[in-house]
Amino acid sequence: MDPNILATVRDFAASEAPLVVLSGAGISAESGIPTFRGPEGYWTVGSRHYRPEEMATLGMFRSNPEEVWRWYLRRLAVCRGAEPNAAHRAVVDMERLFGDRFLLITQNVDGLHLRAGNTPGRTYQIHGNINFVRCAGPCSNDIYPLPASVELKEKDEPLSDADRAALRCRACGAWARPHVLWFDESYDEELYRFNSSIEAPAGAGMLLIVGTSGATNLPMQIGSIAAGQGALLVDVNPDRNPFSAMAERANGFFLAGAAGTVLPSLLEAMRRDG
Ligand code: NAD
Ligand code: ZN
Repeated sequence: MDPNILATVRDFAASEAPLVVLSGAGISAESGIPTFRGPEGYWTVGSRHYRPEEMATLGMFRSNPEEVWRWYLRRLAVCRGAEPNAAHRAVVDMERLFGDRFLLITQNVDGLHLRAGNTPGRTYQIHGNINFVRCAGPCSNDIYPLPASVELKEKDEPLSDADRAALRCRACGAWARPHVLWFDESYDEELYRFNSSIEAPAGAGMLLIVGTSGATNLPMQIGSIAAGQGALLVDVNPDRNPFSAMAERANGFFLAGAAGTVLPSLLEAMRRDG
């Protein structure tokens, strides 16, 4: 990597300023979880009849909860079968290095950052986590793990009676739903840490953007706020995307490459203190 870039990252690490990491589906690509827009089209796997933008909606869940659950149980089988990769591990080491100067904002719902070892208090899962469920009715916003008795679906299998019984809210008996933000829903603070994620970049010294295409609104807002406050923006992605130009305009860097290769090098630069 360019020695000037490494020196800039090292200088940042030696300062008192916070590090905010913003991750998207690309950081899990090397774990074998396809991205949204990648050639395998993660969101199109699993449903023969609908596009992901149609499946991952409250409207679809209301009209056909069983079909939506089958689709999620198949996606969950993929995520549970995947292991955190070198990029996830580098982000864990960054949390250890920076301590209370560290925050991770992730769009991923796969739970791999937490499995790798990032702490829940410093990991804002702004689109939720498919390993968890909550009541689909109005009774409560309690979030709890998907019951272990629910069978993950390796292929196009129906729900069993036991699945149907386990996928009920423990309190009121209504359907439980995956704890994810759907396409026809809005961000909020209680479930998805919306306000906290908007506030986080204000004080950041560096915003490290990894594996996100910038197609959704909140990540772009986070990038603009950080750039406007003079943070160092670094975008890691094999392909150019809206964050690359944003980083370069703000005197930051676009680092072309896979997260599992680039993040360990950045971590090394952060660790050197001279
Ligand atoms: P995206 O699919 O829109 O974009 C992925 C980005 O990752 C692309 O820019 C691509 O060039 C990049 N990429 C691919 N391989 C990479 C690698 N090895 N290293 C670094 N970058 C790489 O993803 P998004 O911007 O996160 O938005 C997609 C939406 O879909 C999000 O809302 C997210 O919640 C959801 N999603 C989540 C997962 C997951 O949890 N793993 C997977 C797919 C989609
Ligand atoms: Zn309920």
